Amino acid sequence: MKDPHTESGRWRYMIEAEQEPRFVASHLPLIFSAAGAIGVLPFMVLRYMQGEWTAAFIDTAIVTALFSLGAYVYKTRRVEAASIAIACICVLGIISTVWLIGPYQIYWAYPALMAIFYLVRPRLAILLVIITIAALAPRLSGNFDAHTTTTIVITMIVMCAFAFGFSLISNRQRKLLVRMATRDPLTGAGNRRHLDSKLKEVVNVHRRTGVTASIVILDLDHFKKVNDIHGHRVGDQILVRVTEIVNLRIRVTDSLYRIGGEEFVVVLEGQDLERAGHLAEQLRTLVQANELVPDQAVTISLGVAELRSTETENDWMHRADEALYRAKRAGRNATMLAD
Ligand code: GH3
Ligand code: MG
Ligand code: MG
Repeated sequence: MKDPHTESGRWRYMIEAEQEPRFVASHLPLIFSAAGAIGVLPFMVLRYMQGEWTAAFIDTAIVTALFSLGAYVYKTRRVEAASIAIACICVLGIISTVWLIGPYQIYWAYPALMAIFYLVRPRLAILLVIITIAALAPRLSGNFDAHTTTTIVITMIVMCAFAFGFSLISNRQRKLLVRMATRDPLTGAGNRRHLDSKLKEVVNVHRRTGVTASIVILDLDHFKKVNDIHGHRVGDQILVRVTEIVNLRIRVTDSLYRIGGEEFVVVLEGQDLERAGHLAEQLRTLVQANELVPDQAVTISLGVAELRSTETENDWMHRADEALYRAKRAGRNATMLAD
């Protein structure tokens, strides 16, 4: 039977669409900026044709700002700052439009306010909405009768309440989805997909700044036997305990991932081979000393590799995996450093 530790290239399939969450997150600001800019564009042209220069200037500023931010998001996929900026443009745009062009422009407040709830965090959205309504109310009451002004303000508040509810629910669902997509349910450690994106990030940082990083692959020794003797439930508890032991020892900048049944990876940012090897040895002795099941030593074997400037994340993982294989071959309960 083929030993799993010798299968070369078993990390190759790990290259996945790591940018996916950010790509999805960038859709909304893109849609809002494009829809806003395209919506205002015909009015901008009309204002120029009719020589309404103030209105033309406001519309030009809104269209330019929305297009530029949309292009920025499209190019960089950086959504957070751009989303806040687009929300602020919505607020400033609608306030200046209603005050400078006329109170009948109030119709624009509805899509603008709704967009805010989908662009920024609910609390910031509420603050922006309060500012907008407070800034618009005097202009409305000065031009419309009390009944019309009240109707406009109340319909706006009702619409914002709906948008708030939807944004709250979708925010929670997004967080849950991210957690489910990136965490291992049994141990709470990161999963393989999460590790994949972390390694890419670390390799990119290394190429840009030269900051070093190391990985430790650890695998429980003879775990099949532990399961056979003590049962699968005890086996699960051991996996949870090993996760706790590792998490207690590593720094906040280090991260732990469960990548297979009884196999884990620790990513140590900024740590060279020597320090990573030292930590690996500490983890090995800690697990051994913890006596995870009575009358039977539960041990781990570890492989350590420091990132080389020319290699890909797959090569890096592969070297650490080979070191782990050597640790297994050397009799287990051992740490080996990659060349
Ligand atoms: P080695 O020292 O060579 O790593 O031997 P091993 O028995 O640990 O390795 P092997 O790959 O042959 O078996 C891994 C075992 O890990 C098989 C399975 O029983 C156990 N295992 C994998 N995933 C889980 C899990 O989620 N829970 C439990 N309880 N056991 C698991
Ligand atoms: Mg094992
Ligand atoms: Mg294994």
